[in-house]
Amino acid sequence: MPLMDTSAIPEGLTTVSDGVEMISHGGVNCYLVDTGAGPVLVDGGLPGTWTLLQQALAARGLTPADLRGVYLTHAHFDHVGMCRRLLEDHHTRTHVHPRDAPLARHPYRYAHQSPRLRYPFRYPRAIPGLVRMTLAGGLAVKGISAVPDVQPDEVLPDTGGLVPVFTPGHTYGHCALLLPDRHILFSGDALVTYDPYTALTGPRVVARAATADVTAALASLDAIEETGAALVLPGHGAPFRSGAEEAVAAARSVGVA
Ligand SMILES: [Zn+2]
Ligand SMILES: [Zn+2]
Repeated sequence: MPLMDTSAIPEGLTTVSDGVEMISHGGVNCYLVDTGAGPVLVDGGLPGTWTLLQQALAARGLTPADLRGVYLTHAHFDHVGMCRRLLEDHHTRTHVHPRDAPLARHPYRYAHQSPRLRYPFRYPRAIPGLVRMTLAGGLAVKGISAVPDVQPDEVLPDTGGLVPVFTPGHTYGHCALLLPDRHILFSGDALVTYDPYTALTGPRVVARAATADVTAALASLDAIEETGAALVLPGHGAPFRSGAEEAVAAARSVGVA
């Protein structure tokens, strides 16, 4: 039996929808979204994701200097990995919900409901994935002073119409990001299809090892369901193309590890 189901963890560049590029590295996804005003990045990946980001932009005849901004679903270390470099080298700002702004400054100082170290013993199949995350710079992410202007239900300007959907639980300020006209939901880590802590696949809430408030995380599934999105693009794992409703039903049925 293979130690890791590699198909469950995307790697490299994948065009998941017209004008939406999934950038997957070290077991983490971020997304380049084309807008009329230039591309924006949904989540900031890991430091080692930089080369792939450059490739995705080069395919558009662009460079990192052309990015309009980074919009975070939440500020865990594996979602802010390129933000400091983008700010320092290109003056690209990162935006986040106010309740995750402290986490953006200290992306390893996060709340979780179970001791993290217990998980690799209970779920050894997760270890290769966690090693990949480490090799992609997962232990060396620098914090960032992000703009705390991501407000639920208010269209983010110059983003092609991204609307934050407040989905706290995984972190206190987690927001999924919805493109309502296109029925696309960037679910961040509020709903993933691969859990880095257990290596379990299929739609689910991330394990207690990395979730601040499991009760709130489960309640936030309602908000994800209500988006009615057709395409769910998670922070970890493959895209889910059977819609938010089915993803949420699956996540509810498996519970939280
Ligand atoms: Zn997270
Ligand atoms: Zn994550």
